[in-house]
Amino acid sequence: PATTRDRLRVAIQKSGRLAEPARDLLASCGLTWRESRDKLFCYGESLPVDLLLVRDDDIPGLIADGVCDLGVVGRNVLVEHDLGRTANGQAAALKEWRQLGWGVCRLDIAINDDEQWTGPEQLAGRRIATSFPRTLEDWLTDKGVDAQVVTLSGSVEIAPRLGQADVVCDLVSTGGTLAANALKPVETLLHSEAVIAGPFAPLEDGREEIADLLLRRMDGALRLKETRLLMLRAGRDVLTEVLQRLPAGGEPTVLPVDGRDEVSVQLLCHNAVPWPRLEELKRAGAHTIMVLPVEGMLA
Ligand code: ATP
Ligand code: MG
Repeated sequence: PATTRDRLRVAIQKSGRLAEPARDLLASCGLTWRESRDKLFCYGESLPVDLLLVRDDDIPGLIADGVCDLGVVGRNVLVEHDLGRTANGQAAALKEWRQLGWGVCRLDIAINDDEQWTGPEQLAGRRIATSFPRTLEDWLTDKGVDAQVVTLSGSVEIAPRLGQADVVCDLVSTGGTLAANALKPVETLLHSEAVIAGPFAPLEDGREEIADLLLRRMDGALRLKETRLLMLRAGRDVLTEVLQRLPAGGEPTVLPVDGRDEVSVQLLCHNAVPWPRLEELKRAGAHTIMVLPVEGMLA
């Protein structure tokens, strides 16, 4: 039985691709920490939310065992963990509480540059190196292909050159690492991004309330990240043309500028505003056009 806890514990990657963005995300929710000397545990000062800094592979297990309540982890790690539970006859314990939209990558099969790809049946009898053996085996079973899965904990992309495998199944974002190793992606097993992972069951001992507060702030912070304030000036004579060319967003605010036959226009946009849009506004007669990030907002 889990011991009683009245503080929320969040597991994040100690170092690696998700470490910084995870801390930034939590900091944008107003969290501050007093770091312990070994920096494996950070005590939350502003809210009862503590951090555990671990290897990303350990995050699902820590949540499933009730050691941590939430975690920031790639979907690929979560899926691999869940397939492990299923294989052991255990029910899936974790779900995605939020999708974060960064840490985006795919789990791909990649073959030698100069090899032709005809389909999954081409993998029959071959050795495939991966750090995600269960996800790969699940996919192979689904395709009815019998191949040999070689599990490696890292540096999967050099396995073919080392003679450890013929093919790889690895995480790909830009494809640069594959290309540098004379490999090309041919099949996608999984589309991944960073997620907030948590248990299926609701949290207990008042931790649910803390988690609700944290997630509400996080939703606000995630929405704000894309939000921009567009400001510009325009003569009253061209105002109609300018207003017609504003990007989608809320209701524009039009304010008179003292002592001039001009107005100032403000608009909250929920996406980045691309350059061509600004140039179009300029051509319509607007000037002093600015796009500003939004730090905080209470609607
Ligand atoms: P740890 O020491 O914590 O086990 P790691 O080497 O397993 O670190 P990283 O390479 O830091 O992990 O990657 C963490 C996560 O980042 C991946 O599980 C994946 O979800 C995501 N990611 C995004 N793009 C890529 C990419 N191009 N290659 C690898 N991972 C990526
Ligand atoms: Mg790892």
